[in-house]
Amino acid sequence: MSTGERGRMVVISGPSGSGKSTICKRLLEDPRVCFSVSATTRKMRPGEVDGRDYHFLTVEEFKQRSAHGDFIEHAEVYGNLYGTLRGPLEDAIEKGQLYLLEIDVQGALQLKALGEPGQYIFIAPPDFEELRRRLERRNTETPVVLERRLHKAADEYRERTKYDHVVVNDDLEHAVAQVRGLMGLDAPAGKGR
Ligand code: 5GP
Repeated sequence: MSTGERGRMVVISGPSGSGKSTICKRLLEDPRVCFSVSATTRKMRPGEVDGRDYHFLTVEEFKQRSAHGDFIEHAEVYGNLYGTLRGPLEDAIEKGQLYLLEIDVQGALQLKALGEPGQYIFIAPPDFEELRRRLERRNTETPVVLERRLHKAADEYRERTKYDHVVVNDDLEHAVAQVRGLMGLDAPAGKGR
């Protein structure tokens, strides 16, 4: 949707298990919000679509694009490479869109350090016992990997002070409402941006 004004980058980030992807899916129900499709070298999961969920690249392709300066930020997350493409971001801002990046903490802090203008929102798990339960429920990790993820989440949690806003995801509806409010989505279309 274009209003003739410049758009805005909104970075949603937080530890794995914080519920940030669920929140982003809800935000994307609003036609004013557009999703930044990242590039990744990880394998496609069942139900994922190339070009919609991610641009799935080989390590070689990813490195070539990185050397070419195609990524505004990139990071290695659990052994796979992920990067935000610069071109679509610039186009979206030009077109007046609210451009949503769902990225990890390393990537968000890279953008912040670059002084990339935008709104930086940290999604925090309510507490670490709840995070452990969420990661256990996902049941995709071995105990060693689970401990590693919890340790990483604790390190990432300390970085929350570098963001513009921290939203505690203790209740999904409440967290979605809070983020929508921060993004100005509660105002009628074209206002509050
Ligand atoms: P998943 O593989 O589960 O989709 O994502 C793993 C992690 O990578 C999540 O924390 C997700 O937010 C993060 N991620 C996805 N795309 C990007 C990206 O373009 N850059 C960075 N730095 N992290 C990303």
